[in-house]
Amino acid sequence: MPDHFQGYQINKTEAGQTCELKQLSDDDLMEGDVTIRVEYSTLNYKDGLALTGKSPVVRKFPLTPGIDFSGTVISSDHDRFKTGDRVVLNGFGVGEVHSGGYAQKARVNGDWLVHLPDSIDLRQAMAIGTAGYTAMLCVMALEHHGIVPDSGDLLVTGASGGVGSVAVAILNKLGYRVVATTGRMEEKDYLRGLGAADVIDRKDFSEKARPLYKELWAGAVDVAGGNTLANVLSQIKYGGAVAACGLADSMELPASVAPFILRGVTLYGIDSVTAPMNKREVAWKRLAEDLDMKLLEDLSFDLSFNDLPKAAEQILEGKIRGRAIVKLPD
Ligand code: NDP
Repeated sequence: MPDHFQGYQINKTEAGQTCELKQLSDDDLMEGDVTIRVEYSTLNYKDGLALTGKSPVVRKFPLTPGIDFSGTVISSDHDRFKTGDRVVLNGFGVGEVHSGGYAQKARVNGDWLVHLPDSIDLRQAMAIGTAGYTAMLCVMALEHHGIVPDSGDLLVTGASGGVGSVAVAILNKLGYRVVATTGRMEEKDYLRGLGAADVIDRKDFSEKARPLYKELWAGAVDVAGGNTLANVLSQIKYGGAVAACGLADSMELPASVAPFILRGVTLYGIDSVTAPMNKREVAWKRLAEDLDMKLLEDLSFDLSFNDLPKAAEQILEGKIRGRAIVKLPD
């Protein structure tokens, strides 16, 4: 592969943060022991914050954003990887403090890379992306808690978004009855297509929560935080659990301890960024088994590499449905 390649680069100037698509060279690659030809990336909420500069996600300059990518190893000094291996990367500060997926080439620490399971191709890997892998971590937390399909209905918030869409699809395939909340009731058919048995308006979860409501859900996947998570907690059945991974509503948690001390509810925090390697490998293996690849195709769409800045604004406005797949230029 030539020494020069295309990529986005974020810089900090006195006027603020700039982001441009430009010609980069091998000198722009960061330290690491594996160099990868990036084939696909995607757009996550955090990428939206990085590309627009609306939140200080990027903390090293200049930097190529993109918190995840899939690709093929060009060269490696790492004992787990060799030229030609198919790899996927999520987290570890990539796209934040280490250059990431929005360039045709990346150089990273091999300890951050996961070998892609044979049955997942490079494009599917980014249809899944950080959002799908995080959805799997949420499902694994609920399973670890002992929740099974017979435990009762599960709730997924922000269901039209990336994490939510994949969570609905996985849970449905595993035999759970899934209820989806959304702010976009016009997406009801889409959510039913992914396997939601019922779809409810997220405005029912937007006001300040009472300490306890009627027990409705055996468990939940929450991407929203804020009043949404507080309301969800107050509706969890005795002994149930919530896997919380996001802050699409708010970083705050204006909740009561009542669900914890009166109903024995457990709140699991899900972190995908620094999750240990053994957990990552299990999650990717489980995605290969428990995510219907036909549904994955239905919930994803192709986003042009050149349109990333525009789409970044849209994901922050909650206007992106499902998962965006970004093919890097050939
Ligand atoms: P998306 O933007 O694709 O989805 C978020 C969804 O949340 C939206 O589509 C919308 O769904 C819903 N939503 C938006 N605003 C609100 C609101 N005010 N109140 C309630 N719901 C709202 O993002 P992702 O799915 O990629 O990520 C979801 C969250 O998870 C983000 O906060 C992200 O930062 C976080 N995250 C955390 C990770 C971790 O490691 N902990 C990893 C990956 C993501 P709808 O229209 O259907 O209501």
